[in-house]
Amino acid sequence: MNDCLFCKMIAGEIPCDIVYENESVFAFRDIDPKAPTHILLIPRKHIRSINELGEPEQNLAGELLLTAKKIAKDEGIDKSGFRTIFNTNSDGGQTVFHIHMHILGGRKMAWPPG
Ligand code: 5GP
Ligand code: ZN
Repeated sequence: MNDCLFCKMIAGEIPCDIVYENESVFAFRDIDPKAPTHILLIPRKHIRSINELGEPEQNLAGELLLTAKKIAKDEGIDKSGFRTIFNTNSDGGQTVFHIHMHILGGRKMAWPPG
């Protein structure tokens, strides 16, 4: 956990462009944006991936969704549309193992994803 990049951002040890934070969640702009708006939304609690979510995280999981809604509105992409993604493990394309929701918008997304 001490080596976790996103935990270090939460701790202020690595700078990032913070979009939103409260006592349980933290959101910042992706360093390598894949769309005009690309935000990463994470819980403050270190959880590796969706696979490690349990009953105690039920409220937290819901809060992530409601926070995504708020961020999309604040960023002005709620009406035009946006995409939310949790990549999980190798086939999902996860590279940072602190659970995070990608919030992407500002352009038309392709479907199916690559
Ligand atoms: P994943 O590939 O695990 O789903 O997503 C990890 C994301 O973290 C990638 O989109 C990547 O660009 C982003 N990322 C990696 N390192 C940093 C960093 O140091 N700062 C920020 N803001 N984003 C990062
Ligand atoms: Zn972490």
